[in-house]
Amino acid sequence: MPETAAALLPADEAGWRLEDYLRRGGYGTARRVVTTMAPGDVLAEVRQASLRGRGGAGFPAGAKWGFVPQGGSGPRYLCVNADEAEPGTFKDRLILLRAPHLLIEGMIIASFAVGIRNAFVYVRGEYGPAVRRLEEALAEARAAGLVGPGLFGTDFGLDVVVHRGAGAYICGEETAQLESLEGRRGQPRVKPPFPAVVGLFRSPTVINNVETVATVPGILARGADRFLGLGLPKDGGTRLFCVSGAVRRPGVYELPVGTPLREIIEVHAGGLPEGARLKAVIPGGLSAPVLLPGEIEVRMDVESLARAGSMLGSAGIVVIAEGTPILDVLMATARFYAHESCGKCTPCRIGTSWILKIVGRLRAGGGAPDDLDLVAGLAEGIKGRTLCPLGDAAALAIGAMAAKFRGELERAVAR
Ligand code: SF4
Repeated sequence: MPETAAALLPADEAGWRLEDYLRRGGYGTARRVVTTMAPGDVLAEVRQASLRGRGGAGFPAGAKWGFVPQGGSGPRYLCVNADEAEPGTFKDRLILLRAPHLLIEGMIIASFAVGIRNAFVYVRGEYGPAVRRLEEALAEARAAGLVGPGLFGTDFGLDVVVHRGAGAYICGEETAQLESLEGRRGQPRVKPPFPAVVGLFRSPTVINNVETVATVPGILARGADRFLGLGLPKDGGTRLFCVSGAVRRPGVYELPVGTPLREIIEVHAGGLPEGARLKAVIPGGLSAPVLLPGEIEVRMDVESLARAGSMLGSAGIVVIAEGTPILDVLMATARFYAHESCGKCTPCRIGTSWILKIVGRLRAGGGAPDDLDLVAGLAEGIKGRTLCPLGDAAALAIGAMAAKFRGELERAVAR
């Protein structure tokens, strides 16, 4: 859980209720912000903290908020992206279940900073218990006057609507999410215009993911410098790293941005099970190109992973042990992207489905000698030619797997 707000967080799910949160000082920061600070000062504090988005793209939150045009009397919206669907990522669900009031407090502060009166939380369709928890927490907050009009005795108010998605990965992409919220099929829009200017119902909209918004109260409670000092100058604070796969202690670990990948796997997650040897690591959810054992000294921040040829993404670390056929991993990846492609642009729609057919043929033992070149060529053909990042993600993840494990894949095809 975000360390800067650690005093507000329960150790487990039992303490999620409003009375527990208030006992830990909850909503005190929102009260202070709304009653004593100017919106511009809140924005400056978040900028100073170098808070990067925790959803995948890693865009600085303060800059995103600053793109919303100032002035004017029209509506503007906050959309909290809880459509957590990146394979290997399960941290936002934890926040929704354990600390829903921390998220609501973050929404109040973010909305106050940007002049927003209406917020939506778009939750992944499969997260039934998390949706129910959030709705219960919102009901508590409304009953206590912490959501609604006239917050803390001021004329600032915030209304919150929870919207449950239907289970499409693409609705985690911000413009597809807006389309879905407006009642249309969830497919990405052409950018620009960006949502900060033309977003939900054609009005300025801030879209941030759950962890990002839940981090905001801690920044305002303890100060931007404290938060910044925990991480790196351009990437402040701590992050929630999800670790799954071949480790002794899979789970969610809150650690400073920039913690080495090897330390997360070997120290915090307990290393691989007895007798197992590391084969590969996917460092930032399935979209992130795979790393080999010799590449895990890399620090877990946006820029270090980009230099290593991968990406931090949603910070979902998947550890793969020797003995796992890479053809199986490739097949699972190809199946996922072919299934989740929304079909709006041709290179992604056709490319991912052809990759799945070819990898399936290889796995079934009917591959041709040049099939691996075909897969690599199709991935290259998708890269940089699609409307949204899903196409690139598929191409990069599949391309890296096919290139780094070429020898193993050739041997598997030859059998
Ligand atoms: Fe849809 Fe894929 Fe194009 Fe994104 S890249 S818009 S998911 S078809």
